[in-house]
Amino acid sequence: MQKADLEHPRGNVTRRRFLQHTIASGVAVATVPRSLVRAAAQTSSPAKTPWYRRASLWGQTNITERDPVRYDIPWWREYWKRTQVEAVIINAGGIVAYYPSRFALHHRAEFLGDRDLFGELTKAAHDDGIFVMARMDSNRAAEDFYKVHPDWFARDVEGRPYRAADKYIACINSAYYDEYLPDILREIIQRSHPDGFTDNSWAGLGRESICYCTNCATRFQAKTGKALPRKADWDEPAYREWIMWSYARRIEVWTLNNRITRDAGGPECIWAGMNSGSVTAEARSFRDLKEICARADIMMLDHQRRDDDTGFQQNGDTGKRVHMLLGWDKVAPESMAMYQSGPGYFRVASKPAAEARMWMIAGIAGGIQPWWHYVGAYHEDRRMYRTAEPVMRWWKTNERYLVNRTPVASVGVLWSQRNTDFFGRDSAGDVVDAPYTGFMHALVRARIPYVPVHADDLDRESTRLQLLILPNVGALSDGQTATIRQFVHRGGSLLATGATSLYNEWGDPRPDFALADLFGCHMAGTTPPLRSATSRDSGSAATGAFAPSPSAHTYLRLTPELRARVDGPNAGDEPAVTGERHPVLRGFEETDLLPYGGTLSALHVDPSAVVPMTFVPAFPTYPPETAWMRQPRTDIAGLVLSERGTSRIAYMPADIDRRYAREHLPDHGRLLANIVRWGAGESIPLSVDGTGLVDCHLYEQPGRMILHLVNLTSEATWRAPLDELVRVGPFKVIVRLPAGVAKPRGSLLVAGGQLAIARTDGTATFEIASILDHEVVVLE
Ligand SMILES: [Zn+2]
Repeated sequence: MQKADLEHPRGNVTRRRFLQHTIASGVAVATVPRSLVRAAAQTSSPAKTPWYRRASLWGQTNITERDPVRYDIPWWREYWKRTQVEAVIINAGGIVAYYPSRFALHHRAEFLGDRDLFGELTKAAHDDGIFVMARMDSNRAAEDFYKVHPDWFARDVEGRPYRAADKYIACINSAYYDEYLPDILREIIQRSHPDGFTDNSWAGLGRESICYCTNCATRFQAKTGKALPRKADWDEPAYREWIMWSYARRIEVWTLNNRITRDAGGPECIWAGMNSGSVTAEARSFRDLKEICARADIMMLDHQRRDDDTGFQQNGDTGKRVHMLLGWDKVAPESMAMYQSGPGYFRVASKPAAEARMWMIAGIAGGIQPWWHYVGAYHEDRRMYRTAEPVMRWWKTNERYLVNRTPVASVGVLWSQRNTDFFGRDSAGDVVDAPYTGFMHALVRARIPYVPVHADDLDRESTRLQLLILPNVGALSDGQTATIRQFVHRGGSLLATGATSLYNEWGDPRPDFALADLFGCHMAGTTPPLRSATSRDSGSAATGAFAPSPSAHTYLRLTPELRARVDGPNAGDEPAVTGERHPVLRGFEETDLLPYGGTLSALHVDPSAVVPMTFVPAFPTYPPETAWMRQPRTDIAGLVLSERGTSRIAYMPADIDRRYAREHLPDHGRLLANIVRWGAGESIPLSVDGTGLVDCHLYEQPGRMILHLVNLTSEATWRAPLDELVRVGPFKVIVRLPAGVAKPRGSLLVAGGQLAIARTDGTATFEIASILDHEVVVLE
């Protein structure tokens, strides 16, 4: 058989030839027909685990309008088997219908003819024992539709319909969502009985476009007694209410759609929408991640690729963030592009296998289930069909270690979508995301396990945590600050930065930090201190002292200096200073300065607090003759440390977290890690020693620990799509053992084989010789 046959939808591979191939290549083939497995699952008692908690491996061929005349269903069925998918996502309706809908305005795919491609594919999947999520994309329609139902479509402040290219955007408060889409969902269920629904863009218009249609005006007036806001103004009560009202409508749509699909298709016929891994993207489209996770049976993530700013590790972070809200017993599959999806966007070209593979592996480490995604059912770049298969096979073999587990971490990073909205406002990327990302990068680099903690879940999570990080979390309610205070009073430690607690839940400034007594310092100067008309970022709450700014030529001075001890020229008239430095400055013994880049204003620091770093104001960089410090010393604090009982509290006004996310200076990463280690004390359960960038995720199951080590060491000097995996190692690993795992044996799920483990003082120590893409260690 030609190798190309298996690679090509036109290869027309028969079931028998596929079996010959797989048997010849030593790949196990399931002996029980999967249709029987599925039938058994569907007819079993209600107490049995529902299908959406069992379908872990997913696939999606996003159907183009051309595909109905070239969709090689037998080839794709073989591909489903090769990749061991348990559920597939098949385009059904919305903007384009892939079945002959009885609704004349439900536009059929251009090349569909009278074919029922959705029905045929659904039957094929069901015959193969594979669950089906019908994919909807229900937010816009063509002009003929608009002309029949002009009142179903969103309008701008001038009354003109909002459009996207040649389509019209439906209003989420119209009968399009309340009546038309429910009819479509029922039709699809009655015709083809999919197991559930997912929807690519279910949440309607985003925050940037206020809809002024009659439906919106009437409903908003009825709910709030107010007219719709004329423009986006975060300080205007009507705009704030419009934001909250818009969030509530999305939850209403979520609930409505679930009622429709379950009524028509049975209790397991769920509607699961689709959500982003980015909180800012969720905020812009009024999808409240916490509220949705509280209602979701499964989390369908549309988060397809690595972003240059946030790296592969962001997928591990997303997995943890979602599971911390959803629960670790549910699945969160994620659409992962097998095509080149940016930077450089090519729908029918293969993404370098290493790049796609590492995105999958990084997500798996965070508890995400892989879901291959292609656009179009026919590809001339057949390399992309090779990428997912080995990852999916590895996943299936090791499934029991990859689901139903809980993270082991003593460090939590606090976040809330409310903060993204009302503190981040129109600059959430700079104001909220970057500080969070800076800590994520620093923790990954330092191999310190952490979990993202929602501000409203802190009470529940606090017993597991020793250190809580608040990365520039400006907007906190009085209730949230009270919970943080309780956490500290129970002995927990804090590391807060920037404008943390300086605003209330609406983004209105407070005269001082709500947590000033814990921080050991207070705002100085005028009240409110942080608004500045001259800031380049005037639309954001975080203007003034803590505003993101272009890099200035500033420094942080490490105190006390060590000049008399070190090897270097004397400054002449400068006094020699000696003294012990604080442990957070470990590793910086040969410097008295760290590069900073931001600006700082004076704070009132409590006498009991320690200030290990002070601000050095900007001085010229050019011409070089002018590059000398005009003011080498100030008493403006760059970091304030205090201790109360077992609690250690660090407040860092300097936006080192944001700068590390943007500029990646190793000194900044090291400083953040040092402060984390000081705050966390002895609580960090893991130590990994060896060269390379390795993202570590530690989990627990009854009687078992699971450690993911994801090799993020890149082969490129520039940030390019990953094209070659670089082997790293050896690593010396020390894991603290919980009571239930006293004398574990260790095994490697990727390299295979057993580990030699040394046990001392409740820890296991072992060496991993090398890691290519990742390794997973099981101690049990
Ligand atoms: Zn509207």
